[in-house]
Amino acid sequence: MTYDVIVVGSGAAGGWAAKTLAERGLRILVLEAGPLLAGDHRVDRAAHTGARQPVQSRCSAYEQANSHLFVDDLDNPYQTPPDAPFHWFRGRQAGGRMLLWAGVSLRMSDREFAGTAPDAPHHRAWPLRHRDLAPYYTRVEEFLRVTGGGESTPAAPPPAAVRRRPLTRGEQRLAEAVAARWPGRQVITSRTAVAEAGSVLSAALATGRVRLRPDAVVTRLELDDRGRRAEGVVFVDRRTGATHRQRAAAVLLCASAVESVRILLNTRTRHHPDGLGNHTDQLGRYLLDHTAGVSASGLVPGPEGPPRPLPGPGFVPVCHIPDFGDATRPFPGGYGINVFAPEVLPQNSGSAAWASAGGTPFRMWASGEVLPHPDNRITLADRTDAWGVPQARIRLVYGPGERAMALDQATEMTAMARAAGFTVLDVNDRPLPPGSSVHELGGAAMGTDPAHSVVDAGHRLWRVPNVLVTDGACFPTAGWQNPALTIMALAARAADRLADAARAGDLEGAAP
Ligand SMILES: Cc1cc2nc3c(=O)[nH]c(=O)nc-3n(C[C@H](O)[C@H](O)[C@H](O)COP(=O)(O)OP(=O)(O)OC[C@H]3O[C@@H](n4cnc5c(N)ncnc54)[C@H](O)[C@@H]3O)c2cc1C
Repeated sequence: MTYDVIVVGSGAAGGWAAKTLAERGLRILVLEAGPLLAGDHRVDRAAHTGARQPVQSRCSAYEQANSHLFVDDLDNPYQTPPDAPFHWFRGRQAGGRMLLWAGVSLRMSDREFAGTAPDAPHHRAWPLRHRDLAPYYTRVEEFLRVTGGGESTPAAPPPAAVRRRPLTRGEQRLAEAVAARWPGRQVITSRTAVAEAGSVLSAALATGRVRLRPDAVVTRLELDDRGRRAEGVVFVDRRTGATHRQRAAAVLLCASAVESVRILLNTRTRHHPDGLGNHTDQLGRYLLDHTAGVSASGLVPGPEGPPRPLPGPGFVPVCHIPDFGDATRPFPGGYGINVFAPEVLPQNSGSAAWASAGGTPFRMWASGEVLPHPDNRITLADRTDAWGVPQARIRLVYGPGERAMALDQATEMTAMARAAGFTVLDVNDRPLPPGSSVHELGGAAMGTDPAHSVVDAGHRLWRVPNVLVTDGACFPTAGWQNPALTIMALAARAADRLADAARAGDLEGAAP
């Protein structure tokens, strides 16, 4: 069977790439390293145990009930320098980490697309702006039924449709106190996807033009004799160990940032001895992340009156304070704050107990932009994983900018909580180890100049244009916004452009 396009990976990026291409009439093969889980994608009788997941079990979202949605660390090892831990939290199953994500969906603004702080060292800018991505943001938001809208929020442009949930009493109190004291800051309602986990991949499969091949671990790409065109991919069957080859006119890498870079680095040929897309030594560099773990928590005094229920399932009780930084800050990156100040805990946890504690709980936590640095990078180790693929070696360390930002986050969260009359009981100003946000990005940055990027604005490798990097690896800067919405919008845009090229008879990207 021949396919027009191979999509590697079936998570946030792969789901949207396959869905978009198939809706435009192309025949797609999705190669997915993990299994297709039964039924609602969440049931797997052979769940892992913590003993095989020493890394994954450190993720704050990890629990026995969802441990099968995290990888087996013994089969999927990776290396870090001894003094630079990196927590790489992964899911290897059809649907990827979309079966785990919390759904927080914030658009990036032109401030992030312009590249924060143009005078910062290693400044990088995107080759596109919000207006280029806006139709795709809207498409993804509509499909996932993202909440929010109806607010003027330049730091995080709102969804086109209005689907708002009212603020809880605690959030309202905070919003009023922040508006009164800091006119440049905003507390905005929840921006959260409501659609069911796995629905994007299901929609792709429902087109009838997508074949999903689970248990297919892609190890490398194969090129033509001149090294200018990919002919297809090589993959290993996860269960049998057998090696297979599959041809297609174009390959989209959607295996997640580090995995897509690993596949490119492992594609070493006569014409590409240092890995595919690495002729200017950019591949693997500028690995990005968001700082996580800096937080303030305590009690919202009260409650006054009976607790109000949330308006319906899927409305995550979290609101946001978008980045409010200006040029006076002593660090270049931006950060946003999430606020959890519910009136009722999920699952009968009893508001009476809260009243006896003197109020309802709140927690604020920050997501901070990690700046691009060439030495934060992915390379290949000598040792291999269970399928014979060289392990990724990941080096990401925070610099003085990220450390200064963490202190500022803690100070500002505490000040805003106190201004709202909240009782602050605990403050943490130290970020968790890199990777903990599960927002790893970069490594194959998009740009306008091959000397400083790996792919062009259409996600195509500069020298091999029928290979596209359409997941978070292509981010030249991280922004502060949770990245999955932007990853999905980018994948849909790249797929749309590829479908345009196919219609023009140029699926292999021969045109300049
Ligand atoms: C608990 C949790 C909560 C999160 N909450 C949010 C949130 O609220 N908002 C947000 O923006 N982000 C959130 N994220 C992060 C979000 O899930 C990721 O940013 C997003 O899924 C990345 O999309 P992706 O397609 O690049 O990777 P993934 O979704 O991880 O998909 C990659 C796929 O590629 C497959 N693959 C990997 N290697 C290979 C290979 N060699 N061959 C074939 N297939 C391969 C994997 O098996 C996987 O299915 C959360 C993550 C976790 C774990």
